[in-house]
Amino acid sequence: MSTSDIHTLVNSPVMETLARQSYPAGTLYVVATPIGNVCDISLRALHLLSLADAIACEDTRNTAQLLTRYGISKPLLAAHQHNEREVADKLVARLQAGERIALVSDAGTPGVSDPGAKIVDAVRAAGLSVMPMPGASAAITALSASGLINDQFYFAGFLPAKAGQRDTVLRSLEQLPATLIFYEAPHRIVESVQALAGVFGASRQIVFARELTKLFEQIHRCPLADAAEWLKNNAHGEKGEYVLLVEGAPADNDDDLHEARRILGILLEECSVKQAASLAAQITGQKKNALYQLALEMKEAAEE
Ligand code: SAM
Repeated sequence: MSTSDIHTLVNSPVMETLARQSYPAGTLYVVATPIGNVCDISLRALHLLSLADAIACEDTRNTAQLLTRYGISKPLLAAHQHNEREVADKLVARLQAGERIALVSDAGTPGVSDPGAKIVDAVRAAGLSVMPMPGASAAITALSASGLINDQFYFAGFLPAKAGQRDTVLRSLEQLPATLIFYEAPHRIVESVQALAGVFGASRQIVFARELTKLFEQIHRCPLADAAEWLKNNAHGEKGEYVLLVEGAPADNDDDLHEARRILGILLEECSVKQAASLAAQITGQKKNALYQLALEMKEAAEE
């Protein structure tokens, strides 16, 4: 997409529709930016960045590059992990004076393993409004393409660098029946993958989501037993940005189902479906109707 295409887009009728939504003054706008591919930014985010009086950013050079791609020029102020609290006070004063301030990080969603949360906290504590402009985040992008089936996920962010602390965190997650999502730096990837296998065991699935949305994107899924080998054989193994996802522990539901099947299996040898379901309900405390359905399925399957 050329700069003139972008200009056409930014000035198109759809953007006029966007502009009709209200973007109140005196508000902090938390704007997600691309995690690789520069086109992964919403029209609304572009509109807001064009409207803002100033943009608070993790690294002014990175944000300047992004804005240049979209032909946007705005005053930038640095808001990184070392000055977030001080900057927050200045931003509160500017918002109280009626400015619209956008908050961005280098990539993805501010406040997600990135600076931003302290500023949002201070702005809200001052009674001012905060409006999110949603967009890319590496964790959710990776989850969406992982194929790990689970209604729940747990975002663990970066693991501690020290082995002992890292293992303590991992052990605290061992029984969690949710997909686990980690960010990891490339120089620690081999060590971390070994630690994941050590704590979660060989059979759980891991998904490597590397360089998402970029030219050399790779998404690879395998049992933890094979993870170190995959990394070793991958020419790019210790380079690039990674999200790691690990299959969660079996849910209680899975355990309940397993137990119900085991008990019904024994009872169906001796009793009718109805009696088996009734006895299984007394033994397990599970619902009789659900056990009746399960018993019926098991009986039919056995007769096929
Ligand atoms: N705020 C960002 C977000 O919403 O995803 C995360 C920032 S955090 C400092 C950077 C980490 O996110 C990287 O070390 C990596 O683990 C992950 N990450 C960011 N971009 C990525 C990409 N394109 N592919 C894979 N992982 C990525």
